[in-house]
Amino acid sequence: SSNLMEVRNLTVDYVGEDSVARAVNGIDFEIREGEAFGLAGESGCGKSTVAFALARLTRLPGLVTGGSIRFKGEEVLGFEKERLRKYRWREVSFVFQSAMNALNPVIPVSEQICDTIWTHNPKASAEEVRARAVEMFELVGIPPRRLDDYPHQFSGGMRQRICIAIALCLNPRLIIMDEPTTALDVVVQRDIIEQIVELKSRLGFSVLFITHDLGLMIEFCDRIGIMYAGELVEVAPSAAILNSPQHPYTRALGNSFPPLTGPRQRLEGIAGTPPAPRAMPQGCRFAPRCAQAMPVCSLVPPELKIYPERESEAACHLLK
Ligand code: SF4
Ligand code: MG
Repeated sequence: SSNLMEVRNLTVDYVGEDSVARAVNGIDFEIREGEAFGLAGESGCGKSTVAFALARLTRLPGLVTGGSIRFKGEEVLGFEKERLRKYRWREVSFVFQSAMNALNPVIPVSEQICDTIWTHNPKASAEEVRARAVEMFELVGIPPRRLDDYPHQFSGGMRQRICIAIALCLNPRLIIMDEPTTALDVVVQRDIIEQIVELKSRLGFSVLFITHDLGLMIEFCDRIGIMYAGELVEVAPSAAILNSPQHPYTRALGNSFPPLTGPRQRLEGIAGTPPAPRAMPQGCRFAPRCAQAMPVCSLVPPELKIYPERESEAACHLLK
């Protein structure tokens, strides 16, 4: 399938008074039409920074300092105000962890959905907009009779469904979801993710899914990129990430999560902590924590290489 989004050499810095910390160090990946692509990694690895950059929502002290983000071949980093407005919502929309708390508490949710539809379709009639709002509520499984309720009248899970309805109401081609269900209990999380997957296959949009929960991600994504210290260390189909992870960090990350089925076990965790942005190892950034590190690892950064026979990419000196 073809690429909806192509990210090349993307670099994001956090600019301080007299220092610069590199949060994302020249990463490359693509999101295909209709696929769910996951970004996984420990907190602080740069995955949310990538999501914000793709949405052109990077704000100072963050700054996209290099690379390219192409959406259907168009350079997103070059979009001016009007083009950007269309890009956000109509082409790409977002659901963040805190989205459900971003609903305005003193305005009925119907108004909040209708406003979004209206802003982008100013010529639509009140009836058309209302009908679309009803349709969106049905789509995410909330009875339309509740459309005029206020946010506090809904559970957390329902509020997050409403945010998903708002994100979907303009038929975007890509939805970026950064920890969309993390604040919810496990059963509600699963319900919502299953619903997103069902909507994705029905409506054909792509998803960029970010979560620290690798189990959930493996279950729901087609392909996964593993990030470590601002870089992609492995990109592969979910089944390969689960069954034949290539990179030592991917393996360690897999071991640190409970199995998908069977009894919950104690987590192994990964010894050590990621490097601080200002103290990046000069070779492989994972070397200080890697049980398989060799002398070359602390000297030469491994590059992300393509391994066509297993449809994956990985950056490690061990791999041939
Ligand atoms: Fe470990 Fe070396 Fe591979 Fe880095 S390049 S993950 S240190 S073996
Ligand atoms: Mg994050």
